[in-house]
Amino acid sequence: MKCSFCGNDIEKGTGMMFVQNDGKIFYFCSSKCEKNRFKLGRIPRKVKWTDEAVKIKSGVKK
Ligand SMILES: [Zn+2]
Repeated sequence: MKCSFCGNDIEKGTGMMFVQNDGKIFYFCSSKCEKNRFKLGRIPRKVKWTDEAVKIKSGVKK
């Protein structure tokens, strides 16, 4: 399972799960990711420490 924000692998029994009103499920490896996603409303590819941003930077396309 991967973090919905930074893309890090989340070990079983750790991390947090959120279900939105529309049924979308988010997993977060840490409260840092949860905060960035919901409280700060950030987009993963715009935040340099996320997996997505690192991949874009290094030229790897998904
Ligand atoms: Zn994360």
